[in-house]
Amino acid sequence: MTEINGISSSPGYAFGKAFIYRHDKLVIAHEHIDVNSVDKEIEYLESCFSSIIKEFQKYLDDAIGDSEKALYTVELLMLEDVEYRKSIKKLIREKHYSAPWAVEEATEEIIKVISGVEDEYLKERIIDIRDIEYVVLETLTGKRREHIEVREKRILVADYILTSELLGLEGLENIEGIVLDTGGKTSHVSILAKSKKIPAVVGAVDFSSTLEEGETVIVDGEEGKVIRNPAKRVIAQYERKRREREALLKGLDGSIEIKGRTSDGKRVILDANIEWLEGVDDAISSGAENIGLFRTEFIAIKDDILNSRDKKDEIYMEAAHRMAGRGSIVFRTLDIGGDKKTEGMLAEDNPILGWRAVRYMLSHRKDFKAQMRAILMASKYRNVSMMFPMISGVEELDEVLSLLKEVKAELRRDGIEFDENMKIGTMIEVPSAALISDVLAKKVDFFSIGTNDLIQYTIAVDRGNDKTNYLYNPLHPGVLRLIKLVVDNAHKEGIEVGLCGQMASEPLYLPLLVGLGLDELSMSPASLPVIRSYLTSLNYGDCSRLANEVLSESSHIEIEKKVKEFSNERETRNQK
Ligand code: PEP
Ligand code: MG
Repeated sequence: MTEINGISSSPGYAFGKAFIYRHDKLVIAHEHIDVNSVDKEIEYLESCFSSIIKEFQKYLDDAIGDSEKALYTVELLMLEDVEYRKSIKKLIREKHYSAPWAVEEATEEIIKVISGVEDEYLKERIIDIRDIEYVVLETLTGKRREHIEVREKRILVADYILTSELLGLEGLENIEGIVLDTGGKTSHVSILAKSKKIPAVVGAVDFSSTLEEGETVIVDGEEGKVIRNPAKRVIAQYERKRREREALLKGLDGSIEIKGRTSDGKRVILDANIEWLEGVDDAISSGAENIGLFRTEFIAIKDDILNSRDKKDEIYMEAAHRMAGRGSIVFRTLDIGGDKKTEGMLAEDNPILGWRAVRYMLSHRKDFKAQMRAILMASKYRNVSMMFPMISGVEELDEVLSLLKEVKAELRRDGIEFDENMKIGTMIEVPSAALISDVLAKKVDFFSIGTNDLIQYTIAVDRGNDKTNYLYNPLHPGVLRLIKLVVDNAHKEGIEVGLCGQMASEPLYLPLLVGLGLDELSMSPASLPVIRSYLTSLNYGDCSRLANEVLSESSHIEIEKKVKEFSNERETRNQK
């Protein structure tokens, strides 16, 4: 049993067999060859092995250091192993397997034997054997692995995974948990895991390359831990934890219609972030007052992958309809690009600083206008708002607003009903937008602070990179000062300001956010019941004092100390 620490990215517990997906894997077709082609297939196999051996001999000659030399020596031994080659050829000759299929089958057989041996050294060689298998298969087939299909309940363990890959994965419903070697808490794959209620741990460095397919793994999405080959006793513990968590969430069932309020009556609207139409139901059952953020890009990416048909009009209309009479719904226009690229989007040196969100959409005006039109049409239910992501300056916002004006004029011309008073908001997630929020506040009806990005851009730290994750700190004084500035500027102009980043769903930060004066907090539905229950126990006066104290601090260490002290004191008081 081994325990690995990573970063908790989606809450909950999961355990099961691992399905490993590394970007160097290949999918092999299981094809029989013609009896007459057997000799040709074996000849082809031999020539591939010879060229790989030559290549590896060269790697060994050029290797620097003992460990690299040892690695190539072991791999060469395997490539030159007569028995290995014999077993492959036997499958081709006797069962008429194609060469790649025979390699896959023969290698599996060796791995099965080694896995059963009580010898740690030999077991560690499995990774080297896998490496050889990949190299041979790549040479034989000339292709790379790409299609992911999960047919049984599994824990997906991957080096990394693109949002589009996860969305296009066949058998997503079979994924019980996710472990990634890389990634950060607020990366979009983490957001996706959360919205699909899949417990996930990211930043589990190299985990996918040390694991074997089918090994048992526990994903502890609460503590950010992964346990490999757990003892029965530990699995039982986690079964209990999972049951307790389910009971707790049921107990906090949000169907009770309570508005967000502190114990002394300060109103804080509690809303949900969703990514799918089904999210509307999750939001309602979690007791969300409204949908504070509909990330429309996820359905757009998925539709593109699976159907090449865009169903946004129907989905927006249906979502607004389901929320009608309950609350409002904020559709954020496509935040595509960055770490949410789809096939066909240009590779960029710095995608996070590049052609993303409104920047991308302003270069694809036809698509942008089509989306605005669909949102406006859904606004006939009188509960819809539209919000723009990644606004960085006034000219950009003006350009977007003038496009919106054009779309409205077209709808009027076509006699299509929409809400003339539909509210328009902008996200504040770029520091420049926060700094000029006094100007932006004059042009829109509300702000929503996207801390996932605001933190990334303020501290200049990639939100998806585990190497620099230690710098990604919501309590950085620079970030807190920007939030305060935005709240003050919004209130001076008389508009509401919310916060919809991951920060809103963490109880530790709640008193501070309340004290900073945010009018609304929007989070994943799963986090809402806990936050609502905590909010009702807070005193606004105490929260304001905490915020004032914190704002005069210059180090995040001191700030963290104060925030933790606040929650510990409250806990002690409640226990008395
Ligand atoms: C944010 O940046 O905080 C946000 C809510 O937007 P996203 O996570 O989709 O980038
Ligand atoms: Mg964002």
